[in-house]
Amino acid sequence: MKALLALSISMSYLTALSGQPDFGTLREQMVKEQLRARDITSARVLEAMKTVPRHLFVRDQDQEAAYGDHPLPIGWGQTISQPYMVAAMTQALDLRKGDKVLEVGTGSGYQAAVLAQMGMEVYTIEIVAPLGTQTKELLRKLGYDQVQTRIGDGYHGWPEAAPFDAIMVTAGGPTIPKDLLAQLREGGRMVIPLGKTQGVQELTRVTRREGKIHTEVLMAVRFVPFTRNPN
Ligand code: SAH
Repeated sequence: MKALLALSISMSYLTALSGQPDFGTLREQMVKEQLRARDITSARVLEAMKTVPRHLFVRDQDQEAAYGDHPLPIGWGQTISQPYMVAAMTQALDLRKGDKVLEVGTGSGYQAAVLAQMGMEVYTIEIVAPLGTQTKELLRKLGYDQVQTRIGDGYHGWPEAAPFDAIMVTAGGPTIPKDLLAQLREGGRMVIPLGKTQGVQELTRVTRREGKIHTEVLMAVRFVPFTRNPN
C-alpha cells in the first residue's frame, strides 16, 4: 500500500515536472468509469481502448479533454465520437481477429485505430478531403498500417475490397445505403445510425443471415449527418 502510494505520488510529480497530464492514467479511468461501468464487456474492445492514444486524434488544445465522456469537435464541422459510442459500436459488430471491416466516416481516425489495434483489416472512407488527408497521415505516423484510407463518398462503399465481415457507419442518415448492404458478406454485421430527422437517430444493427436482412435497434444516438457528394 505504502509502495503504491509512493508510486502514485512520484507519477503525479513527474506529470507536474513535464507539464503533461498522465494520459495512460486518464485512459484507464476512461475505460473503468465510462465503459466497464456501463455495458462494455468485450475484453478486446476494453484492451484496445486502454491502448490507443486517443489524445493524439484531437486538436492539440483538446488533448486532456479527449478522455472526457463526450464527443469533441475536430474541425470542418465534424466530431470525434464519445468514447462510449466507439466502444458500443465496436462491441456490437461482434468481431473476430482478422475480420475485414469497412468504416464510413473516418473523421479523426480514432475508431479506425481502435479496430486496427484489435487486429482487424480496416478500410475507411472520408468525404471531407482535407480531414481525410490529415487523418491518413496521422494513422501512418502512428504506425496503423492495417488501415486503408480513401477520400470520397462512402455511400457506395468500397466495392474492390468487398465483401466485408463488418461495416460501421459513423454518420447518421435516413436509410441503409443499398451498396453497403450488398457489400456485407453472409453472416456479416453492420452498425448504422438511422433517422429521418437530422441529429436524432437510432443506432441499428443489421445482420445478413441466409440471405435475409435482420435489423435490431440498439439505442438512441446523435451523429453528424451523412453527407452526399453532389456529383
Ligand atoms: N469515426 C469517426 C467519427 C467521425 S464523425 C471518429 O472516430 O472520429 C463522422 C464522419 O463521417 C465525419 O468526418 C464526416 O465528414 C464523415 N462523413 C459524412 N458523410 C460521409 C459520406 N457520405 N462518406 C464518407 N464520410 C462521410
